[in-house]
Amino acid sequence: MSPRTARLELLEVGHCVHPEHVVHQNRRLSPLRFPSIVALIHHPTEGPVLFDTGYSPRFFEATRRFPERLYAWVTPATIDASHTAVAQLALRGIRADDVRTVIVSHFHADHVAGLIDFPRARFVYHRRALSSFASLGRIRGTAAGFLRALLPRDLEDRARVIHTEGEVSPLPSSCAPFASGVDLFSDGSVHLVELPGHVEGQLGALVRTDDGSFDFLVADACWTTHALRARRLPHPITRALFASYERYGETLGRLADLRERTRDVRIVPSHCDEVRRARIPSSPLA
Ligand SMILES: [Zn+2]
Repeated sequence: MSPRTARLELLEVGHCVHPEHVVHQNRRLSPLRFPSIVALIHHPTEGPVLFDTGYSPRFFEATRRFPERLYAWVTPATIDASHTAVAQLALRGIRADDVRTVIVSHFHADHVAGLIDFPRARFVYHRRALSSFASLGRIRGTAAGFLRALLPRDLEDRARVIHTEGEVSPLPSSCAPFASGVDLFSDGSVHLVELPGHVEGQLGALVRTDDGSFDFLVADACWTTHALRARRLPHPITRALFASYERYGETLGRLADLRERTRDVRIVPSHCDEVRRARIPSSPLA
């Protein structure tokens, strides 16, 4: 059976700003826009599938008090109710109940603030993605970018937990140096690939699109396309933000290798403004 393909749309679901020298290790102090990009995968049999959910106004509720308020200070975010993932899906005639699968790349607030809006979805995430945060109290959780108030109470009941060690299958050779991933729907359309370094158990999704090429949704494995081109790590002062700055560097190097080897795989970092400008021309909060 030949592998299935899917149509993919990118949405900007809020953004925040950071000084450029932190992101690119240069001297520019100007603020850099950090969109929160969500992928809407139109799957031929599974219906609409989301890769992350971006921001929602719930982020502001969850960060109203200390210590959570510190998170909102460090990552000043912009989002309103009309630009959430669920609102942008509604504009396309897709109801929240139609979404049966949400892939959660990782549990940082800018990726999960819309999870509660999808009451019938199962949540697909790596087995280490939640456990690494679950034991943290409010202060250490906030420092690690984790806001428990954003998660549906029944999240774990609705989970499909991914084990990238066991259930993997080979990826097409054009995806080298990435060799294997979890075939999410057992049809070759979406492979989940662990991308270590940023947080424990971060997942990327390699989506086979209708023209036979691929979009590789890499979440925060690199923040910008520029970082891939230049093979440049974020400023070392951000070290504390990473589960492993060294492994982050290794993953970024592998993505840079992939990018140099082929044009058949488009790498989509969640926060790249270059990708937003190229692929989301009518971005709502421009
Ligand atoms: Zn992020």
